[in-house]
Amino acid sequence: MRITEVHVYQKDLPVKGKPYRTARSGDLASLDSTIVELVTDSGLKGYGETVPLGPTYQPQHALGARAAITQMAPALIGQNPLAIDNVRTAIDSALNGHNYAKAAIDIALWDLAGKHYGARVCDLLGGAVRESVPSYYASGIVAPDEAARIAREKTAEGYPRIQLKVGGRPIEEDIEAIRKVAEVLPRGVRFAVDANRGWNVRDIIFVSNQCRDINFIMEQPLNTMDEVAIARRLIHHPIYLDEATEDLGAVVRAIGEGLSDGFGLKVTRLGGLSVMRTVRDLCALRALPHTCDDAWGGDIIAAACVAIGATVRPELSEGVWLAAPYIEQHYDETNGIDIVNGWIKVPQGPGLGVVPEPGVFGAPVASWG
Ligand SMILES: [Mg+2]
Repeated sequence: MRITEVHVYQKDLPVKGKPYRTARSGDLASLDSTIVELVTDSGLKGYGETVPLGPTYQPQHALGARAAITQMAPALIGQNPLAIDNVRTAIDSALNGHNYAKAAIDIALWDLAGKHYGARVCDLLGGAVRESVPSYYASGIVAPDEAARIAREKTAEGYPRIQLKVGGRPIEEDIEAIRKVAEVLPRGVRFAVDANRGWNVRDIIFVSNQCRDINFIMEQPLNTMDEVAIARRLIHHPIYLDEATEDLGAVVRAIGEGLSDGFGLKVTRLGGLSVMRTVRDLCALRALPHTCDDAWGGDIIAAACVAIGATVRPELSEGVWLAAPYIEQHYDETNGIDIVNGWIKVPQGPGLGVVPEPGVFGAPVASWG
């Protein structure tokens, strides 16, 4: 099998209701998705996707993704898509870095492999350990009473984990939100407080002292791993890294130097399912819990996150976050990925198990082959 054509599509993903907000992304009313379609001489097509959370959340941005794919696409023509590592070598030879753009290609390769072998991507990645994976609900930055209301509502629906977004406002308001959410969480529901790099060392020492009686993990409270290394010895709460895990090397450093008690992991930031598989295995070696998320995205990314999430040992799984509750449209109306009562069913079809409806992305913005 050979890749004969590469098409890139752009799709806006409008946010339902109020804009989505985190400490460093600002208010986002719509997200910009880039979809890669790999066409082969066998007639099979594979799909991948990447959607940065706006241009200020991290260095990755949508226009950058499309420029990077433009740089790499000619190197894909003629490649055997089943030799995934060889294709990755080819795109690495065409462009240094840009993991988030390579991720869209990587996800499309896994989708193609699954379709070719008649297997689900989760089974190619080592095997699903369960057929339904837990999700978690992220509140966005909202007033403390509203955060508590959301936590009460979402845990009643069945979500096994709540993530409270904090940062970018007076620290006292963050502490009040943590306390109010903790008060309403049923026993056994896990609690993550995610500052998305929005606190400093002074803030997290203060929060940890003020909330010593509350059981939660701090997700990426500080901007850099170096700050985390300083603060870690001075606080009472576990720290998970998210945004600081820019690539596999950063994960290896965090694990090797004992800088993190777990991770919030983004499939596309790390470079796709091939890299996530390695990270999953490294985390298992050190018994480090982690999520399998993406920053944002439609059904293709959702299916990729669920595929790897289904292979994570349950005791180390912190869930799969999807943008699905925040967006209106599915790419595949029949098999689109949804969260039902806080859990996500693993799709059953070959490959990613979602098949974009014809024309759902409009005309390609660029094509090769
Ligand atoms: Mg996070």
